[in-house]
Amino acid sequence: MAETVDVVVIGLGPGGEHVAQTLAGNGLTVVGVERHLVGGECPYYGCIPSKMMIRAADALAEARRVERLAGRTDVVSDWTPVAVRIDEEATDGWDDEVAVERLAKAGVRVLHGTGRLAGPGRVAVDVDGTVEEYDVRRGVVLNVGTEPAVPPIDGLAGTPYWTNRDVVRLKRLPASLLVLGGGAIGCEIAQAVARFGVEVTVVEAGERILGPEEPEASEVVAAALERDGIRVCAGVGVESVAHDANGFTLSLAGGDQVAGDALLVAAGRRTNLSGIGLDTIGLDPDARSLETDERMRAGEGVWAIGDITGKGAFTHVSMYQAAVAVRDILGEEGPWADYRAVSRVTFTDPEVGSVGLTEKQARDAGIRVAVATSAVPESSRGWIHSVGNEGVIKVVADADRGVLVGATTAGPAGGEMIGLLATAVHAEVPVARLRTMHFAYPTFHRGIETALQDLGL
Ligand SMILES: Cc1cc2nc3c(=O)[nH]c(=O)nc-3n(C[C@H](O)[C@H](O)[C@H](O)COP(=O)(O)OP(=O)(O)OC[C@H]3O[C@@H](n4cnc5c(N)ncnc54)[C@H](O)[C@@H]3O)c2cc1C
Repeated sequence: MAETVDVVVIGLGPGGEHVAQTLAGNGLTVVGVERHLVGGECPYYGCIPSKMMIRAADALAEARRVERLAGRTDVVSDWTPVAVRIDEEATDGWDDEVAVERLAKAGVRVLHGTGRLAGPGRVAVDVDGTVEEYDVRRGVVLNVGTEPAVPPIDGLAGTPYWTNRDVVRLKRLPASLLVLGGGAIGCEIAQAVARFGVEVTVVEAGERILGPEEPEASEVVAAALERDGIRVCAGVGVESVAHDANGFTLSLAGGDQVAGDALLVAAGRRTNLSGIGLDTIGLDPDARSLETDERMRAGEGVWAIGDITGKGAFTHVSMYQAAVAVRDILGEEGPWADYRAVSRVTFTDPEVGSVGLTEKQARDAGIRVAVATSAVPESSRGWIHSVGNEGVIKVVADADRGVLVGATTAGPAGGEMIGLLATAVHAEVPVARLRTMHFAYPTFHRGIETALQDLGL
């Protein structure tokens, strides 16, 4: 016999957790289903542990810059504090008890099991081999997230390659590391471990690393990685992978080979949509992402949030969509989802903040585009900062409407600088009005003023 509840949330990533907790707090009967750890990828394998690694690596890099600015330091790196911090502070030894308790206290019934849709308004949950069924009065929220994608490269399957889920658990670093994929995750981890003395090679099939970002930002980060001693091979595919007692060898298109003790596969993510019963509610079972409307509805009585919606695989997008879905489920009046000003940060050093459209995306969208850039080292703050001051600010405007539609802030504190520009894109503040602002001297964000002046609008 199926039990009837108001809502079932399948997958408790950051967004699912928020939905379950908020709906229960509003008096609904909520079942939350999680097959691994409540909280999802971000706290256990993603944002938080990776940023702890980066914080530590940046401290090393900054210490090494002392020589240019303030004397001398003797920097001896040690991975142990990073491993301990990730284990004890970030993940509780990859244990979700605290998160489960928080949800339970809010009134959510948490099931550690695998959920799937079993027809309109019905969910089946496999808990240790026993299947429980639930009928829902209001609906089902899907927040099943992603897994690391492993490309079908000859020889790769069956080798002991790592993904982000392995790297965050390392107690000791290898002497050398090959990184397959020069996206945000690959670049962040490559730089972090290189700063601990690991010899790193990044191989990226696309013509440049950080492909979704502005080319100017890719250039800044590629140069920074190279300064950290990382070999960056972009625009070259991997034809085959070999592994033996000496480690990994990647054979690249064109005949070159690169070798390393360990291999990190950071070649994108695959949504966990197969096998969750999409066909039982008339949706495409092979879908790679789910179409949602502005209220996050993927179908009748089904909401989808997070990475599976394809609107930006970021924790803040998942949380934003969770709030939208909650409003809809509670029968509130908007505001509904708007993705014009999604911002994101690649936490390399220099950081790359970006919001909205790149120049190419804006042109492809048929916008009459005006762009301007300013180089961080040429600003007063960049010049004062000296070593470690590399970066570029780029603004992309709709020349007809006189508003920004996108921006990039690569540089020291680039991830913080983007906040100002995210406000501008989100609120469609006219460029003419932005130019009348006060920009504190000498800050990195004064470079935004320089770029705005050069826009010619
Ligand atoms: C290395 C790395 C670094 C990152 N850094 C950042 C960052 O700095 N900033 C940022 O914003 N984002 C970052 N991200 C992305 C971020 O982790 C995700 O966008 C975020 O976790 C939101 O994902 P989600 O809500 O879609 O679900 P997820 O976090 O993927 O959680 C989905 C949950 O659903 C569960 N699940 C799946 N199928 C089922 C099922 N059938 N039944 C029950 N449970 C199921 C999974 O076990 C999982 O716990 C990073 C990701 C990685 C890998």
